[in-house]
This record gives sequence, structure tokens and C-alpha cells, in this order.
Amino acid sequence: MHIPFDNSYATLPDGFFTRQDPTPVKTPTLLAYNRDLALLLGITEGGAQDLAQVFSGNQIPEGAAPLAQNYAGHQFGTYNPQLGDGRAILLGEVVDTNGIRRDIQLKGSGPTRYSRRGDGRAWLGPVLREYVVSEAMHALGIPTTRALAAVTTGEPVFREAGGLPGAVLTRVASSHLRVGTFQVFAHRGEVDNLRTLTDYAIARHYPDADGPIGLLRAVCAAQAELVAAWLSVGFIHGVMNTDNCAISGETIDYGPCAFMDGFHNGRVYSSIDTQGRYAYGNQPNIVVWNMAQLATSLIQQLDDKDAAIAEATEIVEAMPGQLEAAWLRRFAAKIGVTSPQPDDLGLVQELLTLMQQDSADFTNTFRALPTAQARDHFTDRASFDAWESKWKLRLGAAPDTEAMNRANPAVIPRNHRIEQMIEAAVAGDMEPFTKLMAALATPYASTDPTLERPPTEDEIVPATFCG
Ligand code: AMP
Ligand code: MG
Ligand code: MG
Repeated sequence: MHIPFDNSYATLPDGFFTRQDPTPVKTPTLLAYNRDLALLLGITEGGAQDLAQVFSGNQIPEGAAPLAQNYAGHQFGTYNPQLGDGRAILLGEVVDTNGIRRDIQLKGSGPTRYSRRGDGRAWLGPVLREYVVSEAMHALGIPTTRALAAVTTGEPVFREAGGLPGAVLTRVASSHLRVGTFQVFAHRGEVDNLRTLTDYAIARHYPDADGPIGLLRAVCAAQAELVAAWLSVGFIHGVMNTDNCAISGETIDYGPCAFMDGFHNGRVYSSIDTQGRYAYGNQPNIVVWNMAQLATSLIQQLDDKDAAIAEATEIVEAMPGQLEAAWLRRFAAKIGVTSPQPDDLGLVQELLTLMQQDSADFTNTFRALPTAQARDHFTDRASFDAWESKWKLRLGAAPDTEAMNRANPAVIPRNHRIEQMIEAAVAGDMEPFTKLMAALATPYASTDPTLERPPTEDEIVPATFCG
């Protein structure tokens, strides 16, 4: 096996990272490998044994420059001056066959100087959750980090639940630059590092952006699009701390995330989000808040502070409008409207209000809209029928089912299916994983009706946990 490394982050100044090799594990076993992604990355074929050695961290491939990245971040609104890769190690970067530079990172690969009290490890559950959900997100067409490999370590990891099988995820990202990467330098007053980081981020992600303010504008636009896309598929990230908010605009850090079943704007799954800060419908507010933190950091490097503050404020204040426009475009498409008008906002909201009253299944209700089964998702049939008449009037023609199906996935990684998949994997059965991955690879096609069903009463998994 050969990985065509071409590393750039490792050439940045000392304060950006700490060199750190992964800590070897006892008996690495390859559980999953993403051959399509490997091909995209230009990784040549290797045997399962080879792959397990490399993607457990036991064997450092030629050309790798393993390091742990330094960053800070606001966690649930409180600034933590020192986070960093506590259980992740960047092996290096490759330039993929499309010319895009991508990080290859091991997660769960042992302690680093940023581990604080953590063990640097991950257990199999969250590793497979991230593998499945990130690949599902990609198949849905939403920007995201991806999963290249999952390996079990043969070592137990100790969590509240006791000893659990350890695992390492290989994550691929267009970078791991976070809002928190800017914050760590800005809060320490390390303006030279902040300038270097800004130049690096612009060159890597937004080569047309003009300086720190241009970068801010580009990241705000990307994040507004991203959060609107999440909302359109019922995704709840669960822990939108500024260290889990990527400059690239990719979804990153799949911890206590979930796709909701029954619709409620205030839906929360994360067991630690007791206040609902990261609830489904609060995600637009939070991403604006996160961008305000990015703005605050970026302007530290500008000499004319008053002008910088004025420009940055204008950009951040424009975000709710951008979010609303992106949201309307996506939700209008979900109801078959291709050129949305301002009034369509109310039309979609009315439907969501009815759905919320009945906790109607988010995915299946939208998917059923062009069919006669749509009204079965509501107990208040009269109100739905009234909405439907208004909707049909707006469409002015029969709904374009094909077009609507391209905006309304048939299958999403439902929480109960993820939990069932993890339970099976822990017991040594990877078949549910394989089935889920197969169905989620083409989410807009109906291929496996059992995976489209909402959970039964007994199957409901109301909470998700950090790894
Ligand atoms: P997260 O909530 O996953 O974004 O993690 C927040 C911070 O905690 C990051 O700096 C992680 O690297 C660190 N962290 C999470 N879990 C562990 C662990 N088991 N060992 C060491 N550091 C960890
Ligand atoms: Mg994180
Ligand atoms: Mg995490």
C-alpha cells in the first residue's frame, strides 16, 4: 500500500501543532475500508493486514508526518483556552485526483499533549456511528468529512458503561482548520501566527478571498449553506462548539449527532445538551454566534480596528438573511417549488407546524408529499387537506415527483438503526453495518424499506452520547 503524502500543515510554525506518533495497539483488525475514497485519494491497494497496521497507527506509512493540532474553542458558550487534538493524529495530507488537498487523520490513536484527562482513545460505537453518518451525509450531497477506515484495536476502552472494544477511525477532511484554530492564537495575542493561519486558510480553501475580512465572508457563506442543508434533512449536529465548526464549511465531528424521526423544532438528542443550546431549530442562531467568534478572532490582526469591526459586523449580521434564503431554497425544493417566492416561506412553515403537532416523521412525510399517503402522517387530516389544497394551487400543476424525490431522501441513518448496528458490531456481526452502508449510498432511491421505517415504540433511542 502507498499513500501519496504531500504535507503542508507540518511546515507551519511550532505553535500550530506538536509532533506525535500514534500509540500502537495490541491486535489491529480492519472492520471497514472505503475503497472508493481510497481511489479518490490515490492510495494504492493494500491487503487487510497492511491496512489494519496503517489505519490503527501501528505502522507509520512512508511520507507521513504525524502531528496533533493545537486549537481552542467555546464549549457550550464557555471559552476553553486549550483543547487541541486530544485523541486524533494527523498523518498527513494528499492532493486527491480532483486536485483537492485532504487531511488523513486517525481518531482514537492514543494520547497527545492536548489530551488533558482523556485516554486518547475511542470505542467502536462512536467510530462506526461517525463512519456511517459521515458517509451518509456525503451521499446526501452535504459537505462533510469522510470515513476511510475503521479498525478495532483489540484493547478495551473504559467508559461509564464499563469496558468497551477500542477502535480507530480514519477521517478524511478538506482540512481540520476550525474556528477554534483561529481563536487559540487570537486569544493569546499571537498575531504573527494568526496572520500565518489566515494566509494558509485562504490559500487552501478560498483562494479568491481578500484578506481576513474576505475569509470571514467566505466562511459565513459556506456555513450558512451547510446549516440550511442540515435542516433540510433533519440533522442535529449536537455539539456545535466553535472547535467543531470547520473553516471549510464541511460537517465535522460526529459525536452525539442524530437525524430526527418525528419533527420538532426543539428536538435534542445529545445527553449533555440539557439546555437545548444545540437543538434542531437553534442551529441557525448558533452558527451565527460561532461566526461572530471567528470574526472577533480574525479582526485581531487588522490595524484599523474600527473599520474592521464595522465590516465584520456587517458580514455576521447578514448571515440570518443568507440562512433564510438557503433554507427557503432547500425547503421550497422539498415541496416541489423550484423558484421560491417570499410567500413560500409561510407555506413551508405551515406544513412544519402541522408536522410538529403530530410529531410526523420528517423524512417520510416529505417523501410522501406527492402521494396519496401524505395525509396518513397527520391526525388533523382536515388541516393537512387544507394545506395541501393551498400547496397544489401554488404549484399550479401536478407535483413533479421525480424532482421532489431528489430533494427528499427515502432513507437517512436513523438513530435506532445506528444503535442496532453498533450492538451487532460489538457482538461481531457486521451485516447490519453493511446493509446500512449499502442503502445510505443512494439515499434518494428507495432500496430497503425496512431501513425507511421510523422506530417502533421499543426501538426509539431518545439520547445520543459523546464518544
Ligand atoms: P469533542 O467534544 O469530541 O469535540 O472533543 C472536545 C475536546 O476533547 C477535543 O480537544 C478532543 O480532542 C478532546 N477529547 C475528546 N475525547 C477525548 C479522549 N477520549 N481523550 C483525549 N481527548 C479527548
Ligand atoms: Mg471536536
Ligand atoms: Mg468528537
